[in-house]
This record gives sequence, C-alpha cells and structure tokens, in this order.
Amino acid sequence: MHCASNQLPPNLESIKREAEDSDRKQVEVAVAGLVKQPARPRLMQYYENAARFPQNRVKELEGFKRAGGKVVGYLCLFAPLELIRAAGAVPIRLESGSHSAVVSSEQLLPTDACPVVRSTLGMKMLDLSPYLRLCDILVCPASCEMKSKLGEVLEEFTTIWRIDVPSLKDGPSARRMWLGEVNSLKHKLEKLTGRKITRTELRRSIQTSQEARVFFHRLLELRKSEPAPISGGDAMLVTQTMWYDDLERWTKKTSELCEELKDRLTRGATVAKARAPRIMIVGSPIIWPNWKLPNLIEEAGAVIVCDELCSGDRGALSDPVNVNEWTMKDMMNAIVERYLLPVTCPCFTPNDQRLDVILKMVKDFRIDGVVYHQLRGCYLYKVEFFRVRAALKDFGLPTLGLETDYTHEDLGQLRTRIEAFLEMIQSTKETA
Ligand code: SF4
Repeated sequence: MHCASNQLPPNLESIKREAEDSDRKQVEVAVAGLVKQPARPRLMQYYENAARFPQNRVKELEGFKRAGGKVVGYLCLFAPLELIRAAGAVPIRLESGSHSAVVSSEQLLPTDACPVVRSTLGMKMLDLSPYLRLCDILVCPASCEMKSKLGEVLEEFTTIWRIDVPSLKDGPSARRMWLGEVNSLKHKLEKLTGRKITRTELRRSIQTSQEARVFFHRLLELRKSEPAPISGGDAMLVTQTMWYDDLERWTKKTSELCEELKDRLTRGATVAKARAPRIMIVGSPIIWPNWKLPNLIEEAGAVIVCDELCSGDRGALSDPVNVNEWTMKDMMNAIVERYLLPVTCPCFTPNDQRLDVILKMVKDFRIDGVVYHQLRGCYLYKVEFFRVRAALKDFGLPTLGLETDYTHEDLGQLRTRIEAFLEMIQSTKETA
C-alpha cells in the first residue's frame, strides 16, 4: 500500500463537511420523492430508516469487530457472498451513489470516468462512508475497465483483493479461471478470519441466502400484479438495504413486507393510478441516494414494476446457488456456477443471454415501455443499448434511452423527455 496523503487536499476537513452536508440533502431529496406516492406500504419505514440512519447498523458492526469479527467490503455482484459469510465475516456492498463524493475523486480519476467509480473513490478519500471505514479489505472484481482501475487506485488507501472475471463465460478455460479465482478468495478469507470454511458453515450460509432469495422472489411476484402494490423506487430501496443489513433480519422484514403487500392487493390499495404505464429500467446501476431517475419516472405517473440493474433485481438474490449434494465439492461448484453462468453483465461477450432475460421480464411483468439508463462514462452499457433497443423494437415495445450522471442539472430535460415518453405510452394504451 502506498501513502496517498500527498493526493489529499489540504483543506480536507472543510471539503468533508461540505460533502456530508450535500449528502444529507441528496438523501432528503430522494426520500421526499418516495414519500410523495399515495398509500405507501407501512413497512417501507424500516428500509427508509436503514438507508437514512446507518448509525444503528454501524454500531452493531463495530461490536462485531471488537469481538474479533471481520467486515469484507465488495464492489460488484461477482463477489460470492456465501463464502464470505461461511468464513464468519460480514459482506457489505459499497458502490456509492453520492453526488458530492464524485467531485472529490478528480485528482485521482479522469472526470469522464463513470460516476459510480468516482463516487466510490471519493467516499474513501474523504472518509465519508461509515461502512467503508469498517471494512478490513475490499473485494474488487475487475468486471469492467473502470472497476479494475478503481481497485488499483483504491490500493493507495486500503487493502484490495482483486478478482478477475473471464470475458467469455462459456467453455472450460473460463470455468477453470473462475474456479481458480473463487478458490483463491476462499483461502484468503480463511486467512483473514482465522476460520476454516467448513462444510457445515458453507451449507448454513447457502441456506441463509436461499431463504432470503425466497422472499426477494415473492416480492418480485407481487410486483407483477396490476395495479402495483409497491413503487419501483421503494422496491429498489428494499433490495439495496440488503447490501449492508443483517441478512436474516432483512429476510424477516421482507417476509413481513410481502404479507403487507398481499393484504394491500386484496384490499385494492395501490401506489399507482389504474392503467398507469408499467415501466422497466435497464442499464447502468442506480445506487442510493441517486434516486433521481426512479423518482422522476414515478412522479410523472408511471410505476416501475421491475428492473434489470445489477444494483436491483439482477443482484445478489436473483439466482440460486443450486446444490445437488451438500458435499464441499458440490457446494463450491454450485457457487462457482452461480456467480458466472446466470450473470448477464455486459462485461461478457457475447451477451445474448441479457437480451433473453430482458425480453422474458418484459413479458412476465407486462411492461409498456423500457427506460435504458446510461451513466456518462459507462461504455459497457452504452454499447449494448443499441442491441437492446432493436430487440425491444422487434418485440413492439418503445425504449427511452437516457444518458445522465449524479448531478441534478439535467432534471428539467429528463423530466420533459420522460413525460413525453409516458404520454406516448398512455395514448397507445388508451387506443389499444
Ligand atoms: S459497468 Fe459501468 S457503471 Fe459499472 S463500474 Fe463499469 S463503467 Fe461504471
């Protein structure tokens, strides 16, 4: 690790205070958009509090660390969470949606790098995230050039474990390489925590994830209903609080939320108008508190019923770790497969599977239109935009491509384009 103090601005404390202030405002704006919706589910308060007030969870984790526990940060969904938990560590996903942190990274990353990596680096440079502070190491999968470079730059501040991701996922060499990466992570985790990953612990960890996945999928099923029982902005918040919450507590809360939504459906309570356009968001990740797109779409009268974001419905709980026999070998194989084969990140070439997944979701959720979110500087998702739009056009579905970043300067322009898109969908629905 190198010393990065020469890259930190001399007026660090005042920059940090300003950034903290601006972060608080960004969170309040995001929350204000969510609470505006009519008849918000009561249990959303739990997730909102978890996102707004991290202190309680941070206190828990500090206690865990004082007792010798380790916290493992990770920066993308290629990190096998079941292994981290089986080693007795707590995984926390750490990409940042903070606008103020983006600006601070300018001395170490180009200004046209994507805001996800710039913001995540800024959070570390300014020590803005209590979760980042708690991490003993950061697992940084090299899923795109930006993530790969982020790992390199972050090495100046903390210990990084890089995981290489094959660009072609089919074939024996990709599988061999990935198996090597996962095995190496397993050994490093055992060394970090001083605990061998036993068959019993790995089985328990996989089962805990499977239990969480049941309720994540139950929530997705409920979102297929029309009218929608929960807004997309809230559903995305539910998914992202899982990144740092205790998984068993999150599962319990989400099972209760599903019960509340079921009850709302029987009573006809809804968060959207009858025949509101049903929208799916695809593309670059949307990370709390950068909720400007979901809030704009839903404030304009649509409802986001699903997404295809690695920060959302395509995240850690989307696919199961399928174990045939509870042997160590079989469980490791199942983990290796789970974190490679169903993943449709555009870092893979070819990536036709992503089109299949999007089209299936479009049918299952009865989508009226797709919003393709492109973060400035995120070329992977930008390149795939054209193919996704063409496939959706063949299917007879309109796509709105929106390029944006974490600033609020383009709010007016985005709002106008979204409203025009929704009007077009609404008039098609009415004449259908
Ligand atoms: S995939 Fe896109 S948004 Fe994600 S880190 Fe890479 S460039 Fe940034």
